[in-house]
Amino acid sequence: MAESGFPERAGDTNPAVLAYVGLGSNLERPQEQLLRAFGEFSRLPGTRLGASSGLYRNPPMGPVPQPDYVNAVAALETRLSPLELLDGLQAIEQAHGRVRIERWGPRTLDLDLLLYADQVIDEPRLQVPHPGLHERPFVLYPLAEIAPRLTIPGRGPVTEWLARCPSGGLVRIDPHV
Ligand code: ATP
Ligand code: CA
Ligand code: CA
Repeated sequence: MAESGFPERAGDTNPAVLAYVGLGSNLERPQEQLLRAFGEFSRLPGTRLGASSGLYRNPPMGPVPQPDYVNAVAALETRLSPLELLDGLQAIEQAHGRVRIERWGPRTLDLDLLLYADQVIDEPRLQVPHPGLHERPFVLYPLAEIAPRLTIPGRGPVTEWLARCPSGGLVRIDPHV
């Protein structure tokens, strides 16, 4: 095993594909958590950061009272398989001190694998496209910012979902990262 915890050759042999990751944080300086995470993606084997959206402030989702979130979306070029990429994203969450207490509760860093090439994946550990992606303003707005011509596999153009999605208090807080 390499120091990263990945097999030595992970990410070496597969062709590179484009994947999109949704980032969210509402604890311990959320903007800094996201900016750090942008830098850490390129340290995953066979992976580099492509486009990154601006940062968006967003009221929390679900029943748990908690601070506002900061959200963004990143495009990654990666040779990792979908599950290897999920492992890498979860390792980054852990490195940011993520503690899982309750569903949709506050967190230092949440990384959701939104899209992996044009694949549709339905496994216990991984559903892609991410099930919430097409109806969440804090995902659709930053995703459309960096990929306006994207089609969500099985669901259609991102712009069509965006047009149907009220912004729900989402505010863009950074011109560009
Ligand atoms: P939501 O998925 O509704 O945004 P959440 O991000 O708060 O909720 P987590 O607690 O971060 O949920 O993740 C729970 C589990 O979801 C993870 O352990 C992971 O295995 C699984 N999962 C399924 N599909 C995905 C995906 N596309 N990206 C990230 N995790 C996923
Ligand atoms: Ca999430
Ligand atoms: Ca998650």
